[in-house]
Amino acid sequence: KGTDGLYTVSLIEGDGIGPEISQSVKDIFSAAKAPIKWEPVDVTPQLIDGKTSILPETIESIKRNKVALKGPLATPIGKGHVSLNLTLRRTFNLFANVRPCRSIAGYKTPYDNVDTVLIRENTEGEYSGIEHIVVDGVVQSIKLITREASERVLRFAFQYAEDVGRLKVRAVHKATIMKMSDGLFLSTAERVSKDHPSVEFDSELLDNTCLKIVTDPTPYNDKVLVMPNLYGDILSDMCAGLIGGLGLTPSGNIGDECSIFEAVHGSAPDIQGKALANPTALLLSSIMMLRHMGLNDHAQRIETAIFDTLAEGKTLTGDLGGKAKTHEYAGAIIKRL
Ligand code: NAD
Repeated sequence: KGTDGLYTVSLIEGDGIGPEISQSVKDIFSAAKAPIKWEPVDVTPQLIDGKTSILPETIESIKRNKVALKGPLATPIGKGHVSLNLTLRRTFNLFANVRPCRSIAGYKTPYDNVDTVLIRENTEGEYSGIEHIVVDGVVQSIKLITREASERVLRFAFQYAEDVGRLKVRAVHKATIMKMSDGLFLSTAERVSKDHPSVEFDSELLDNTCLKIVTDPTPYNDKVLVMPNLYGDILSDMCAGLIGGLGLTPSGNIGDECSIFEAVHGSAPDIQGKALANPTALLLSSIMMLRHMGLNDHAQRIETAIFDTLAEGKTLTGDLGGKAKTHEYAGAIIKRL
C-alpha cells in the first residue's frame, strides 16, 4: 500500500482478448473507486540459457507487489517453449489453484444451485514436465508426487476451509490404482486433517466424484475439494460447464509470497479484437483478488453490480446469448455502481 492509500497490483493484460477484458476491469475498478493502482507488466517469453523465462523487471514487479491480475496467455504448441503459464507458476511457486464455480442468476444451465470450490495442486503431478523416450515408439511421462507439495496444498485447503467457514474438506484421488503416488497424497491429507479438528474430512475416488457431481452437484455445495494437479485441471473445467462455461469462471493461483489471479479461459483468438469477449471471468478473478487482499467491501460492491447486471439479462455478451459488446456490458455494471 502506497502513501496515496492505493495498493499497487501487477497487471498482465495477456494475449488475444486479454487487453479487451482487462480494460473492462480497469474501467469498472476506477468507477467503483477501488483502491488499486495497476502496474502493467510485460510477459513476452524470453529464451534465457535455453529456458523459457520472463523479464527480470516483471518478476521484480510481481515480487514487490505480491499480487497480480493476469489475462490469458497464448501458448504456442510444440515450439519448444514451456508454457508461460507454467513458467509463472514455477517462478512464483504458486502451489495452489483455487477455482470456485457458483451458478449465476440470469444464465440458465441444467442446475440452478451449483456452488463448488476446488483446490488443485499446481506444481507437480503429471505437470512435472519429466518425459522421455524409452525406445522409439515408447515414451514415458513421470507423475511426480511429493509429500512436501502435497502437504503444502492440503494445509492451504484446510486453512481455506476454516477461513471461509466451509468446514468440510474432501480429497479426490485414485489411490486404488496409483497406490504410491495418490496414496501419498491421501495419507498426507489424513495426517494434515488431524491438525484441523473443526473441519470434517473425507475422500472420494475421482471417477465417483465426476459421476456424482454431474448427477447432482448440491452435495458438493458445502465442501472444499482438494486434489492432485491433472485431476483438478479436468474436474474444474467440468464444474465450469455446470454453471455456463469459460466466460464465467475465475481462479486464483496462490503462493507463499505472491498470488496471481486469472480467468480459467484462454486467449480466445477466434473472437479477438471484435469486442465480443465476456469479461466476467476476469472480473470475478479480480473480486477474488480483492478478497485475498482483505478489501471485502469493495469486492462485495462490484460483485453485486456484476451479478445484478447478469440477472437482469438485458446487457449480456454473445456467449451468454446477448448482443452487448464487451464495453457495453462493462458500462451496464458501471451504471449500477
Ligand atoms: P479458449 O479458452 O481461449 O477458447 C475456447 C472457446 O471459448 C473459444 O470459442 C472462445 O471464443 C471462447 N471463450 C473463451 N473465453 C471467452 C470469453 N471471455 N468470452 C467469450 N468467449 C470466450 O481456449 P483455446 O482456444 O483452447 O486456447 C486459446 C489459447 O489460449 C491457446 O494458446 C491456449 O494455450 C491459451 N490458454 C491460456 C490459458 C491461460 O492463460 N490461463 C488457459 C487456457 C488456454
